[in-house]
Amino acid sequence: MLCPNCGHDNDTAVLVCDKCKADLYDTLLDKIVTRKLRHKDTAELEQGLFTYRPIVIYVNGSDNPLAIERRPEMIVGRNEGDVTVTVDLSEYDAKDKGVSRRHLQMDATKRPIEIVDLDSYNGTYINGEKLIPERPYTINSGDELRLGRLVGRIYYK
Ligand SMILES: [Zn+2]
Repeated sequence: MLCPNCGHDNDTAVLVCDKCKADLYDTLLDKIVTRKLRHKDTAELEQGLFTYRPIVIYVNGSDNPLAIERRPEMIVGRNEGDVTVTVDLSEYDAKDKGVSRRHLQMDATKRPIEIVDLDSYNGTYINGEKLIPERPYTINSGDELRLGRLVGRIYYK
């Protein structure tokens, strides 16, 4: 990801430039919102840009990050059968990677964000550390989040 401040080409999507330490959240967000909302009308695009600062999740191996509006009690997992979740990871091969339908709960209105593993089949990990189910853990921007074998990185401000 190209830093608009110093022009350094960072290896991955980062929140802070590796070279000059510039804050890259807005750069990251612009890229995503532009892509996500390309087909929507201008009013909706402007609302998307200015009324909230979403959480961004980069799933390893995918160039299509998720931008998620911050809400309390969000369920992260995958839609299947009669289960409908707030954040559906199906498009990232979540089923094959062992993500449970109701895998974890996220309170994104807290600072730092809090997540609770919902006794998922293959577990939730933050920076490689396995979470004890049904217990709240804080997750910081830039942390690695793993659900089963699906690995990603979370960014927020
Ligand atoms: Zn830079």
